[in-house]
Amino acid sequence: MIRHVLVTNDFLPKVGGIQAYLGEIYSRLDPQSFLVITTRVPGCEEFDRDFPAPIVRLGKRLLPTPATVRELAGPIAEFSPDLLVYDPIVPIGVTRDAFKIPYALIAHGAEVRVPAYLPGLRAQLRRTIQGSRGVIAAGGYPAEEVRKLVPEARIVVVPPGIDPERFCEVDESRRASLRRTWMQDPERTLVLFVSRLVPRKGADTLLRAMVGIESIQGLEVHVVGDGRDRRRLDRLAMAVSSPVVFHGRLDEEAKIELYQAADVFVFPARDRWLGVEQEGFGIVILEAQACGTPAIIGVSGGTPEALVPSSGQLLRRGDPAELAAVLRTMVDSARLGSGRRATSAYVREHFDYDQLSKAYGSALRALVNG
Ligand code: GDP
Repeated sequence: MIRHVLVTNDFLPKVGGIQAYLGEIYSRLDPQSFLVITTRVPGCEEFDRDFPAPIVRLGKRLLPTPATVRELAGPIAEFSPDLLVYDPIVPIGVTRDAFKIPYALIAHGAEVRVPAYLPGLRAQLRRTIQGSRGVIAAGGYPAEEVRKLVPEARIVVVPPGIDPERFCEVDESRRASLRRTWMQDPERTLVLFVSRLVPRKGADTLLRAMVGIESIQGLEVHVVGDGRDRRRLDRLAMAVSSPVVFHGRLDEEAKIELYQAADVFVFPARDRWLGVEQEGFGIVILEAQACGTPAIIGVSGGTPEALVPSSGQLLRRGDPAELAAVLRTMVDSARLGSGRRATSAYVREHFDYDQLSKAYGSALRALVNG
């Protein structure tokens, strides 16, 4: 058994995409095989009591300072690992040489792409990757970003996934009952968007597209999530003649019910700042499809990897006119619901965290053994 220490700034119970990824992977690993060293966040005492493996919490943020190195040294020496795993690469991975223990890195996307534009940080990133046993990339997109920096880097891709027990298809009678619960009129077509409401995620494109498809009767748009774009989106929704329901932030159960009830999931994510800001993966795309709902998505960072090819549609330009046209052709087939089972099965086959966690464990073993 390989013993390793994960050193990370981003662990549960803090919320976020990286935290969810690490939480799902690590809760399935052999608890004897690792120690987590991370930051103290609200609610962590209760979380740590229930977590199967030991967690050491240090200060607010782990930075590569001599003080942090001193704090890390004790728990690392006591655990005596074969490998250290740093997430993110910068800043905390920069402590790399302090412990004389082989190390690996985890890459998610933005935290590699953005510093790569800044010469000082770029050099740090490169050296840290070059000195590592290898990088576990949470998708093909971060793998590509790492390869751009260090072409010879050893990279293993372990994409984000879903828990198939929670994100699953339901039978027709349950689905009909969910539609009665959530929709103003369950006979309409439910177009769903779920995400933080920030420009990159593209809820505005959906609302603008809705203005362009007045001719399709019977659509109902549901928007789940909250964020700084909310007021702007409220204004855009006023121009849409179909009903638009803003749910704000919903709990997990309600969110999953909407994924299961929906006819089509729309996520027109886009690049911002000339491509510096991109969507890392788009876990919401997987969540919706795991519940059987086909997706229409914009291309940004890793989003195409999350799409089920047989039922999904990729936007090429990503503007409202294109989305309106794709939505128009998709609504009829989506209403039939015949592809729901295959869509959900594809996600289970490729993105089940039980499998991904095993792949992660094998990747660590391979990196230690050479
Ligand atoms: P990020 O926010 O940019 O990290 O986007 P990710 O796609 O990595 O993660 C978003 C996660 O937050 C997904 O699991 C979403 O389902 C979840 N999420 C976003 N908005 C809401 C919400 O209103 N309610 C709930 N329950 N989950 C949400």
